[in-house]
Formats: sequence, structure tokens, C-alpha cells
Amino acid sequence: MAADSSQAGNFIREIVEHDLKTGKRDRVATRFPPEPNGYLHIGHAKSICLNFAIAQEHGGTTNLRFDDTNPTTENLEYVEAIQADVRWMGFDWGDRLFYASDYFERLYQYAVHLIRKGKTYVDSLSAEEIRQHRGTLTEPGKDSPYRTRSVEENLDLFARMRAAEFADGAHVLRAKIDMASPNVNMRDPTLYRIRHAVHHRTGSAWCIYPTYDFAHPLSDAIEDITHSLCTLEFEDHRLLYDWVVAESNAKARPQQIEFARLNLTHTVMSKRRLLELVDKGHVAGWDDPRLPTLKGLRRRGYTPEAIRTFCDHIGVAKRDGVVEIGLLEHFIREDLNRRAPRVMGVLRPLRVVIENYPEGQVEELEAINNPEDASAGTRKVPFSRVLYIEQDDFREVPPKKFFRLTPGQEVRLRYAYIIQCVGVVKDERTGEVTEVRCTYDPETKSRGPQSGRKVKATIHWVSAAHAVEATVRLYDHLFLKPDPDDVPEGQDYTANLNPHSLERLTGCRVEPSLAGAPALRGYQFERQGYFCVDPDSSPGALIFNRTVALRDSYKSDKAP
Ligand code: ATP
Ligand code: MG
Repeated sequence: MAADSSQAGNFIREIVEHDLKTGKRDRVATRFPPEPNGYLHIGHAKSICLNFAIAQEHGGTTNLRFDDTNPTTENLEYVEAIQADVRWMGFDWGDRLFYASDYFERLYQYAVHLIRKGKTYVDSLSAEEIRQHRGTLTEPGKDSPYRTRSVEENLDLFARMRAAEFADGAHVLRAKIDMASPNVNMRDPTLYRIRHAVHHRTGSAWCIYPTYDFAHPLSDAIEDITHSLCTLEFEDHRLLYDWVVAESNAKARPQQIEFARLNLTHTVMSKRRLLELVDKGHVAGWDDPRLPTLKGLRRRGYTPEAIRTFCDHIGVAKRDGVVEIGLLEHFIREDLNRRAPRVMGVLRPLRVVIENYPEGQVEELEAINNPEDASAGTRKVPFSRVLYIEQDDFREVPPKKFFRLTPGQEVRLRYAYIIQCVGVVKDERTGEVTEVRCTYDPETKSRGPQSGRKVKATIHWVSAAHAVEATVRLYDHLFLKPDPDDVPEGQDYTANLNPHSLERLTGCRVEPSLAGAPALRGYQFERQGYFCVDPDSSPGALIFNRTVALRDSYKSDKAP
């Protein structure tokens, strides 16, 4: 569970503070720039927390900007879901909602300006030829024969590109920088391409679209962003970012700063792979509780507070690394320990009959809602002659050190009495124990005068006549190995999918106070773990998702 603490690991905070102290900046303006081509995942949450926190700490601003320059993969559904997710995370962009597509006209004018300056040209090589001209990491590229086109010809062609006179791929607009640059991104990168496609916001108004390398720095400049935080894969693009801003004569000078993306063990984080898992049916959808999407985590029972604390704790580093998923689980466990009400639920029920308890009698026993929070109060739990306990809490032939219910051995029923097993009923055919016969000691009621009598174990239970039936989904890691890509040659990461990542238990019994539990509400099932109500749950058909087990059953992946 090694991770930098937020203060120690946050070199970006230091840069920002330095910029303010030295007068390089007099304010802090950040942005979170998702591309609406998928749902947000916990990696995005790291970026969201970082951008909003850095600005908030200095009274600055954070824009939510949709980086929607690729009409073929983006749509409104993602735009709306992303906003809902950022809000759910607890952040508010106020009226600072922007779209790169709103800048299409201005970006076009910047491009025209660059043509006039002789800094860009229309290239008519095919995509394949452009690739061949680019060179390699060790060899310089070659100039395109169209590189020397006159400004007039470039202006004319670019205008006609916009006017839909050409097919996709016929021409591109390229920066005129240096085909021999050691940085491949500086070898006349493409700034505009023709794409006859309907955009989810601008419709058919455009058939040329700017590339990320052109749209992103200029969007930052247009919005007067001071610190443009992005992930490490853009480090090699920084030179180009600065070139675009400087050559366009934009007034603002945003600074790009790169940080390491968040990777977690036992899961995948790229949108492409998440999409593949959904499309191929490996998971039930984008909100499958096994996915690291924010929708999935929410359905799993994660709280925004736990995710924020986690993001804060891991901090930001300059070098890529992988964080153990157990650390994320640690933070949700801590958060729910503080606030989740305790309840009793039996996942694999075994019937218990208390022979000396009067038939028809029901006692309402007082149970504590949250020992961590006195203000949570108490509730009543019905107790009667026929109960369910967990199958695991009974052994007819106990192994050594088994302190729970066995023939002749007493246990305490939580909030109730001490009971003793006096016999069992078995299925004649299978020999399986189907019922445990017990007696109870009426003197041992919890909090009563005799309640101090010592027994080695306390177990949970529900009253059979009062309990509510429920389905419980037990989730485990989606991938067996910490690194999903750790596969034999010739196989891909899906070979590592955990066949037991979802275990569905039906016929579980939970205490009656859960009958009307609202969707997504989290509970601690005593001795079991944290569970939340699935949105598909209904009062007649309760469904609970296990958020996380009570104790960390996963040892460190690095442990022997
Ligand atoms: P993916 O690789 O999952 O497709 P992306 O970078 O293409 O992600 P964007 O929508 O462009 O997705 O990301 C929006 C912002 O979130 C960007 O600034 C990006 O750098 C950041 N981001 C994306 N993934 C991570 C991650 N794993 N850790 C930290 N920040 C991330
Ligand atoms: Mg991106």
C-alpha cells in the first residue's frame, strides 16, 4: 500500500505556488477536458480532483470543457453522463461549461492566420504517403512536394476544403515546422483534416475538423487557462503545444504540465478496453460494478468522498506507476465504516429452531445502528423461535478452533441470547444438515443482568418469519493477475478475466428494516462486509451489491 501522500507527491501544486509567488501568474485557471467518447473512469477522477483542487486552493477557476473535435466517436449521451459524473464527484464548474466545437470558427481563423504567415500549408499527399514521409525515430523525415505551395494557393485550397469541395483524405492542413526535427511531433503535424460527418453539436456546418494538437492549445488559450494539466503521453507534444500558441499570436500563454496517469492493478483503464469489455459482453454494461468507471463504482457502492480521499492520498507523480486496487478498497472501507448503518443479513441461510422459545412469541430487540456514530441511534430487530444463521457459522463436526455453533457448544446471537445446539435435522438423501435444533438461555439476554456470561463467539441471525428475501451479488477483481496484460504469448488481456468476478446468491435473508432500502444506500452487513442497494432492486425483490468485504482479504500483490 505504498503511495505518496498528497502533499509530498504533488509537484504541480509546487509549480503553481511558485508561479504565483514569482508573479509569473496572478491567478490560477485550470480545466478538465474530457472527450465525450466514453464514460469517465477513476483515472479521470484523479484529473478532476487535481484540476479542481489546484484552482480552489488559490481562489481560481476550473472549466469543464468538452474536447469534441472528432464527430465520429462522440455523442450527447456521453456529454450528459460526464457532467453528471463530475457533479457526483462533488465539483461544480458553475457557468464555466465550454465546448471546443464552439471555437470551430475561431480555430479556422487561427489556421488562416497561420497560412498567411507561411506557417502552414495544404498537403495533398495521401495518409499513407504522409506516413512514409515522416521518417522514424532514427531517420529524419522528407519534405512533402506540396510544402512549397504559395500562400494564395494554400488559402484557396483551405477555403475549398471548408466548402466541401473535396472528399475525406484528399487534403490536410499541416504545420510547416521541421521534417528533420528529432521530435517526431514537430515534423509538420496535421492540424486539420476533411471529415464529412455530422457533429453532435455543429451538425453539418463543418466538414473539416481540427486535430487535438491544434484545438487543445488554442482552446486553452481562448479560455485563458494558466496551467493545462495533462497526462504524460503528451509530454512529447509540449513543444508543439507551445509552437501553436506562440505562432497563432494568441494573447494568453497557457502552460502544459504533464503528470502520471492513474493505473490500478486487476483492472483496465483505457476507454478502448472498457468499451471492448462492454461490447463483447464480458461485463453487463458501463455501470457494471466490476468496472473502474465512475458509474460502475457508484453502483458498487463507492462514495465520492472515498474516491476523493483516495485521489488525494495517491497524489501526482511525474513517472507512471500502478496503484494496488486494495488501496482504493481501503478508502471505501474507511469511509463506510464511519457512516454505513449496521444491519444483519444472512447470505447462505441455515434454519435454526429454538425448541424452548415459545411458539408465536416475538421480541423486539434493540440493535445499535453504528458503533462509530452514537447519533445514528438504535433500531428494533424482531426475534422469534425460528431463525436463520449463516451456514458457515455451524459445523456438526467442527475443525479445531472452531468457536461458533457446534453440537454442545454455545454461541451468542448478536443483540439476543446465548444458544446451544441440541440436535440436527438432515436431508435423508444427501445427509446435509437442513436445520439446527437449539435451546436458548432466557437469562442471557444482551444487556440483561446475566449477559456477561462468556462464550467464544457472537454470530448474526435473522428471524425467519420477519426476514426479507434478497439477492446478493458478490464481486471480486475483474482480472486474476495484477497486470491484465501478463498473459502467455498469443493471448490478450481478456485471457486474464476472472471467471469468478461475480457470484450471485439468491434466497439470502436480511432483517426487515431493509425492506424499503433506497437505491445505492450503503450498509454494513455485520461480520460480512459493505453492501449497497442495486438500482434494479425493488421492495419485493431486494438486490444488494457487495462493495467490499469487511477486512482486507487480499494481501499485497507483492507479498510472497
Ligand atoms: P483514455 O485513455 O481512457 O481514453 P483519454 O485521455 O483519451 O483517456 P480524455 O477524455 O481525453 O480521455 O481525458 C480527459 C482528461 O482526463 C485528460 O486530461 C486526461 O489526461 C485525463 N485522464 C485520462 N485518463 C487518465 C488517467 N488514467 N489518470 C489520470 N488522468 C487521466
Ligand atoms: Mg484524450
